[in-house]
Amino acid sequence: MSTPTAPVPAIVLVAGEHLDDLRGSFSRYEREYAIRTATSTVEAETSAREWLEAGGDVALFVTDSVLPDAHVLDALARWRSVVPTARRLVAAHWERFLAHAAELRPGMAKGTYDAYLLMPRGTRDEEFHHAVTELLSDWGSTVAEAEVVTVKIVAPEQDGLVLAIRDFLDRMGMPHRVYDPEGEVGLTLRSMHPEPGPGEPEYPLVHMVERPGVRARSVRDVAAMLYGAPGDLDVSGTVDVVVVGAGPAGLAASVYAASEGLSTVVVEAEAIGGQAGTSSMIRNYLGFPRGISGMRLAQRARNQSLRFGTRFSTGWEVSSLEVGRDGAPHVVRTDGGDVHARTVVVATGVAYRRLRVEPLEELVGRGVNYGAAMTAAREMEGQDVFVVGGGNSAGQAAVHLSRFAGRVTILVRRESLVETMSSYLINEIEHNSRISVRPWLFCCMCGWSDRA
Ligand SMILES: Cc1cc2nc3c(=O)[nH]c(=O)nc-3n(C[C@H](O)[C@H](O)[C@H](O)COP(=O)(O)OP(=O)(O)OC[C@H]3O[C@@H](n4cnc5c(N)ncnc54)[C@H](O)[C@@H]3O)c2cc1C
Repeated sequence: MSTPTAPVPAIVLVAGEHLDDLRGSFSRYEREYAIRTATSTVEAETSAREWLEAGGDVALFVTDSVLPDAHVLDALARWRSVVPTARRLVAAHWERFLAHAAELRPGMAKGTYDAYLLMPRGTRDEEFHHAVTELLSDWGSTVAEAEVVTVKIVAPEQDGLVLAIRDFLDRMGMPHRVYDPEGEVGLTLRSMHPEPGPGEPEYPLVHMVERPGVRARSVRDVAAMLYGAPGDLDVSGTVDVVVVGAGPAGLAASVYAASEGLSTVVVEAEAIGGQAGTSSMIRNYLGFPRGISGMRLAQRARNQSLRFGTRFSTGWEVSSLEVGRDGAPHVVRTDGGDVHARTVVVATGVAYRRLRVEPLEELVGRGVNYGAAMTAAREMEGQDVFVVGGGNSAGQAAVHLSRFAGRVTILVRRESLVETMSSYLINEIEHNSRISVRPWLFCCMCGWSDRA
């Protein structure tokens, strides 16, 4: 085994008999990942530990379905305990792919690993590499620091607003980084923007290429900067369809309307993707056998809709709807201007219930998060995390957080999760040693201390 030299993310390939086949298939990744090889469970674990100690990270374990020193499911569980954030893939050799499928596939449902694939039989097996790239993409967007940065945030500290902006950008699939105002990048960015006007905050300063940039008071300021105001949309007169809300329902409506040649505008108050956009991994959406993160689903739907000509406006809440009479257009009103439409589709979904524990509300963004805490998760390494609620979103959040946190406890008012959570998630939680469930608990008060 060679000594680690650079902290690029590693892909660890493990096989007793067919290591050369695997290595050949992964040679295309050598430029951007360190390809580490091992012939046994123990060797792979050592290799991963070495890489972590050298300051690197492990993005993916790829293993044959048979290993010389352990059952592959035990090996995968072991690697998960060493690098919980790494994705895990079984690439079964073609001589035993079918024979092992029935025994190994249930391991995916339990969250022991992410995908069961046929080891490539030759070059350019693009189906295989598509799956690998999906896993690496998912790892890259939820674990790694962004390499290619679309949005730069200048702020002296990561307060609640900065965290909320980062969360919004994560949901929109926009890679970003936060820079110290006195650092090299921070100073350059500050020099590119005019001094704050009266009443305008100095930070966070949010910079994006080909956009004006904004000194944000709220997430909405950033959202509004991305697509401009509804009143600025270049729509001549009345559009055929205005969709209010860009969750899955609104996005689907926009795709079908625009694909029929109707001029379509989507007005979204927050981030494109709605509730689904906050999901770490949607496993039960038709057509995505390995699951898809809410962010990716929303991003794809948005791109699909853009392709047909839909125009989007984010960060503008529709405040009222004036129904047109006798053939007059309907008027969709926002603080950023009005849009006139022949048809309005209201797809505003639901807003989650707050806990109604007053002191806790003051801590939102400072250790307390609503939703899946996708952005905050990265900073929870080794910590004790409590998830309040027993629905599917709580289950997904717990599974995602368990990759980072030391321990995750789900607090529920009922006896168990059975009545409120899908069985595939309960199954995954039951097999995740970092997650436990505490029933019969009602969150009614909270306090805080300065200790980290
Ligand atoms: C963390 C999480 C994980 C989930 N995982 C799954 C899963 O794995 N599988 C599954 O089937 N379901 C899942 N769900 C549920 C699923 O996301 C929802 O059922 C789905 O998003 C509903 O879609 P929708 O478009 O109707 O509404 P929403 O997703 O709620 O979208 C409504 C949109 O309308 C916008 N809006 C509201 N009012 C206005 C206004 N006045 N002006 C402009 N815009 C407005 C909102 O900002 C929002 O973006 C999950 C939900 C959450 C929160």
